[in-house]
Amino acid sequence: MTARIISGTEIARQITEQVRQEVAELRAKHGLTPGLATVLVGEDPASQVYVGSKVKMCQNLGIYSERHDLPADTTEAKLLELIAKLNHDPRIHGILVQVPLPAHIDEGRVIFAIDPAKDVDGFHPVSVGRMVIGESGFLPCTPHGIQVLLERSGVKTEGAEVVVVGRSNIVGKPIANILLQKARGANATVTVCHSATRDIASHTRRADILIAAMGKPRFITADMVKEGVVVIDVGTNEIGRTAEGKRILAGDVDFEAVKEKASAITPVPGGVGPMTIIMLMSNTVKAARLSCGLA
Ligand code: NAP
Repeated sequence: MTARIISGTEIARQITEQVRQEVAELRAKHGLTPGLATVLVGEDPASQVYVGSKVKMCQNLGIYSERHDLPADTTEAKLLELIAKLNHDPRIHGILVQVPLPAHIDEGRVIFAIDPAKDVDGFHPVSVGRMVIGESGFLPCTPHGIQVLLERSGVKTEGAEVVVVGRSNIVGKPIANILLQKARGANATVTVCHSATRDIASHTRRADILIAAMGKPRFITADMVKEGVVVIDVGTNEIGRTAEGKRILAGDVDFEAVKEKASAITPVPGGVGPMTIIMLMSNTVKAARLSCGLA
């Protein structure tokens, strides 16, 4: 069997068009322009690229954006002051604080300071709590993107054996919680593996849907999966640079070998990656709608 490729690039493109229409409609019918504030502390080049692409995406969709780039020595108090200001700014419906923050700033305290109604990254404990108990709120962008990828590719999750490798707060734990819910596009039996799991392959081989989110290039090999598995590869590992200095990326899955056994698989790049940013835009539009009492 050679796997069908699940193209995150194509699915993200379709959602982008839907979000663009929604933004235009909100403006035409309700005079409402969704607004996103990005907050970046320091000059980490990767973070600058991530923030830059989020701002560009806002411009592309007609979402108002405000970029707050602060020096690396910004105090926690100053940052909290900015968050408080943005919490009260009616033009801003979503606040995104780019992590990691410099070591002298308590990341948890900063995330906690964001108004949960503007928590479009879905990292505030209130959003996390809502996700766990299955109440509507803002889902974190990468795991939500994975759920949408599965749904839009026609992969049935109900009753499926899902194995997640990785238990980070931004990918592993939330995707496990999302797919566990008694809800459409979920209702799976979920196993979560991590670095202390004994005999990982004995778990991954049971998976109908395998989600690899560990940050270890090509860790999942063909002998670790069963025939017909659906594989979602979240891993984004830089394994080198081209002569022109462009990053060469590998996923957490040995794509070439595993695609011969899987029924469907996401590539890296072009799989989960493109979904993350559009889910952030979608959350920003949702926050704007909710701020006006629109469903
Ligand atoms: P992370 O915070 O480093 O967490 C990695 C997880 O994998 C941890 O739970 C760790 O276990 C587990 N792990 C590591 N080595 C393992 C091993 N040998 N066996 C079993 N489990 C192991 O990483 P993350 O932030 O979740 O990111 C994971 C990957 O996804 C990275 O490549 C990252 O770049 C990528 N990513 C992509 C996107 C996107 O938009 N495409 C978004 C976020 C992340 P312990 O908990 O026991 O340490």
